[in-house]
Amino acid sequence: MMNSYPSEINLKEKVVKYLEEIKKKEHLNAFIELNNNIIKDVEILEKKDKKRKLYGLVLAIKSNINVKGLRATCASKTLENYVSTYDATVVKRLKNEDALIIGMTNMDEFACGSSGETSYFGPTLNPRNEEIIPGGSSSGSAAAVAANLCDASLGTDTGGSIRNPCSHCGVYGLKPTYGLVSRHGLIDLAMSFDTIGPIARDVETLAKILEVIAGYDEKDSTTYPIRKYDFTSKLKRDVTGYKIALVKQLQEITDKKILNIIEKVIEFLHDKGCRIYEISIPNIEKGLPTYYLINFVEFFSATRKYDGRRYGYRIEEVCGEEVLRRILIGRYISQKEYVGKYYRKALQFRNLIRKSVLKALKDIDVIISAVTPKLPHKLGEKIPPLEMYKYDLLTVIANLAGIPAGVAPVGKVDRIPVGVQIMAKSLEEQKILNLMYCLEEINPFK
Ligand code: GLN
Repeated sequence: MMNSYPSEINLKEKVVKYLEEIKKKEHLNAFIELNNNIIKDVEILEKKDKKRKLYGLVLAIKSNINVKGLRATCASKTLENYVSTYDATVVKRLKNEDALIIGMTNMDEFACGSSGETSYFGPTLNPRNEEIIPGGSSSGSAAAVAANLCDASLGTDTGGSIRNPCSHCGVYGLKPTYGLVSRHGLIDLAMSFDTIGPIARDVETLAKILEVIAGYDEKDSTTYPIRKYDFTSKLKRDVTGYKIALVKQLQEITDKKILNIIEKVIEFLHDKGCRIYEISIPNIEKGLPTYYLINFVEFFSATRKYDGRRYGYRIEEVCGEEVLRRILIGRYISQKEYVGKYYRKALQFRNLIRKSVLKALKDIDVIISAVTPKLPHKLGEKIPPLEMYKYDLLTVIANLAGIPAGVAPVGKVDRIPVGVQIMAKSLEEQKILNLMYCLEEINPFK
């Protein structure tokens, strides 16, 4: 396991080291707020005689997840002063297993973005290469893990927001099956896509966090009716016989330099005993517009509560350009006369895409692709919205189909980290984790 600090140092020393590192690397802007009570939390833990599963694991939490007493700003001015009054189910479960929360991470405003640049608190920097974007929207959660500012973190993924920054920052991340992890206490972007998942520097930690946060929650009616999952004890590097498919349409839209790395991954897995297939999946090229139309409508409706009366400010008066764009388009296409033309069509396409992805997965175990079709741009470089949306071409498929998808760091193009994406059938996270575990051998950052 790639622990950043030797096990001889005690918990308090580890936490102090992390706090010092966070100070030293303040310019990365990975955190919006720190937990000032963390040393007290450590002291409480140290007094306990029974250690639980995540004892002393230091976690950073994305700022759209409620952690009691800390601000869930969504990196917005709208919720700048919103202090959570309760713990989200995932946070409650982490704390129950003795994890420590070190702070709230930076992100794209309301999780709308792919670059980590739309935060009201300023952009996050990529610790592996400060000239390029860290990716988004879970920019701070990925950057904090990559920069050794915590053991692991939670991110959220609606269309790629865990996977995309993990790829650009060279860390592991997993977007779970929709319904595996409770969304209670998560501030919605588009609720029919939103998921919460872990980010870490090694796969064992990732699996451990996932099994703690996964499972039925009576407060989220979309969770599967299974309470206990066990991913760590089944974790193995032997992936002999796994059937892996590459998808023609996805390869065609991926940058050659990224594809070269994916090809090496495939060769590596072939040598480990996997069987490789090439398939094509009808309708997936419609994924991006389908995703965005639904996202705009659901986001518009989710933002109606920010009317300036209950929480903070009226969102339209204080939000950034991207959030406003989505509210305006969402409002427009939600009107009665246009609903049939856009939203309902998008729902039909979503169904079609889901069906064809599930059908493709019937005969194979996983689909492997790049995470983003292009390399990340320079931080601060202005790119048009449609270009920004294109980062999500390969990731939205998993959200549309509701299936799990993981990302493992596998290479570099010049000084830019590149990850691989592994998608599986619903609730088959174990296969993804095992493949990621096997791929630790070629992690360029270990
Ligand atoms: N980049 C995508 C969007 O802007 C995904 C965001 C996310 O997953 N939260 O909608």
